Amino acid sequence: MLTIFKEPWEIALEKEYAPWMATLGETMGEEQAQLLQNALHYAMIAHQGQTRKTGEPYISHPCAVAKILLDFGMDAESMAAALLHDVVEDTPATKEEMQVIFGPSIAELVDGVTKLSKLDFESKMDRQAESLRKMLLAMSRDVRVILVKLADRLHNMRTLHAMPEDRQKAIAKETLEIYAPIAHRLGIYAIRGELEDLALRYLEPEQYDYICRETAKLRPVQSNFLHDQMDRIQKQLADVGIECKMEGREKHVYSIYRKMIKQGRKPDEIYDFMAMRIIVETVRDCYAALGIVHTLYKPIPGRFKDFIAMPKSNMYQSLHTTVITRAGILFEVQIRTIEMHKTAEYGVAAHWKYKEGKEDDSFDEKIAWMRELQAVQSDVQDPHEFLETVRMDIFSDEVFVFTPKGEVINLVRGATPIDFAYRIHSRVGETCVGARISGRMVPLDTELKTGDVVEIITRKDGHPGRDWLKIAKTSAARSRIRAYFKRELKEENIVKGRDMLEKEAKRAGYDLYKQLMRPEWLEGIYKKYTFHNAEDMYSAIGFGGISTNQILQRLIEQYTRSHQEEKLQALLENQKKEEAIAAAANENKKQLKASNGIIVKGEENMLVRLARCCNPVPGDNIVGFITRGRGVSVHRADCANLKDLLNDGEDRWIEVHWANENAQEKKKEGYKATVRIVCMDRTGMMAELSRILSNMGVDVVGVQGKQGKNGSFHFEFDISIRDIAQLEEIITKFRRVRDVIEVYRGTL
Ligand code: MN
Repeated sequence: MLTIFKEPWEIALEKEYAPWMATLGETMGEEQAQLLQNALHYAMIAHQGQTRKTGEPYISHPCAVAKILLDFGMDAESMAAALLHDVVEDTPATKEEMQVIFGPSIAELVDGVTKLSKLDFESKMDRQAESLRKMLLAMSRDVRVILVKLADRLHNMRTLHAMPEDRQKAIAKETLEIYAPIAHRLGIYAIRGELEDLALRYLEPEQYDYICRETAKLRPVQSNFLHDQMDRIQKQLADVGIECKMEGREKHVYSIYRKMIKQGRKPDEIYDFMAMRIIVETVRDCYAALGIVHTLYKPIPGRFKDFIAMPKSNMYQSLHTTVITRAGILFEVQIRTIEMHKTAEYGVAAHWKYKEGKEDDSFDEKIAWMRELQAVQSDVQDPHEFLETVRMDIFSDEVFVFTPKGEVINLVRGATPIDFAYRIHSRVGETCVGARISGRMVPLDTELKTGDVVEIITRKDGHPGRDWLKIAKTSAARSRIRAYFKRELKEENIVKGRDMLEKEAKRAGYDLYKQLMRPEWLEGIYKKYTFHNAEDMYSAIGFGGISTNQILQRLIEQYTRSHQEEKLQALLENQKKEEAIAAAANENKKQLKASNGIIVKGEENMLVRLARCCNPVPGDNIVGFITRGRGVSVHRADCANLKDLLNDGEDRWIEVHWANENAQEKKKEGYKATVRIVCMDRTGMMAELSRILSNMGVDVVGVQGKQGKNGSFHFEFDISIRDIAQLEEIITKFRRVRDVIEVYRGTL
């Protein structure tokens, strides 16, 4: 295996930020340790010279992220990906390079946490949504992606103090809304709790401090009390031969905050601010310990929860009970095995490690909901809608319900019999016509509650209803309902979708076909949503895959943009006609009444000024604009300011054209124009250019020059000329001069 020669600065950085690297060989094996050495070396060189907002070298961040994963007991590949996680986003390194050097799985992990390039998106929201979608999909292929991302976010949150305040708030908010729920969904309580507490500290600093102060006051008393109870229980358990470990557990600041908000209590009114945990060897011991606890104290009815028999979908298992002492003090007890305890702390990470190298059906089953994201992805093209769809799955609590045979099904809170039916089988979902809960018929939009026994009534000719998309809450059911409409009702969807789009367009004041459905505009929409043609688009609208608004907004925007250009175009064309007529009737009297060489249509004594922003000269296409009290200003048709002026109202526009050669009032002093030259910086250049102008009899009004990059020089000649032909001649002559790089007409 390749050994890397390390520069002294690398050795120093490694010692300071990754001291654990030295002993990896003993715990991981030489080959794995070498892989990590290579990754660290690569990352150090890639990030060399970059610093974090904290002032530390950038490499301190990937090292800290890798360390978090090391503490989680994650494998070398995840840690290597952690060391490399920012190189593609923040340095010139590419995914292809990762693939060649570190192999496909590390390259995929790094790619999964790399945000999409800023350049591909119109708005920050789009970029965020699409990047998140990319990450969730990468996660559904390899769950380690999200572990790397969560470790990354955790370290960023720990060092958030170095950020400016507005960034602190934005990052904390995103953490609370997206990353903490994902950690929760994956059962990684160790990370979730810390993320939430850190986020609260920046979002609600006063509340955070208040809770910390209050709990500090409560702590000594509560912890004494709890230790007394723990001694008592432990003795009883020892008497019946059960070995156990006892732990006092303090609630996280954020969960106290939530209770305060939800239940309107003060911190000292939250009885389970501290709880005890009993960790035993076997599942049997769990129930035995529960029995002992319930003989020592009275349990509070309704507070007992058996997550061993019914694990949460994030794999969490434990027995929970709340009991009351004779003195009337409540406290919560959690009972679990060592194995369950690990799962509770590390969630999916604990299971991933356990599974490593083995086929484990139960693991795959447990993260099946992640794989469903891929199915959703294929029929929801819009990134915002995708997030909306999976949000329920990721960010909701759950309920446990039963089939008539007594099987447990867990669903997101708010789920309905339709979700239940689709969970049993997609065929059951599709032919569902009714439902019974605990023997009674209920409407299909009934919200299921934990403990409900649900029975689905099917009929051969049953089929999903239009309103089902609104009723179903799980992404799996919703994507299957969409697929049904897409498949079975394509024709009907096309008619319906077209109708909806037509009506919406009308309501917005447009004629869909005459004004909005331009092939070149539709092209962009087809590409964005992967439609092949208009029928695909109508059909997607018809089955609810996309909203009419998403399509119309884009079309109307483009219509407005192009309409401005059309107005200008019409003005110019009309003008050309007029000029032709005027040329035919050469003696036209009005032509003699030109001002500044410009004839204003239908107006004799208009004051005409040539706009200084674009300096039109005879031969240019021009348009006139009636200014307030200062006559007509004449712009070039390609002037950059025109678009803004066009918005000022059509009635201010007026047709203008250049006077003929023989017009009497032709401007005598010539027209102002600017020529810009980029050339090599050498002596004699200025003289050579000036000579060309004087030979042509062109007056120079002003000259400026300045040094450019890489030995170049920029000249700007303000000159007075006859017409566009003369200007073009000058530009051509300048271009022929030795060492001239580029010549162009200045607009300003
Ligand atoms: Mn990072």
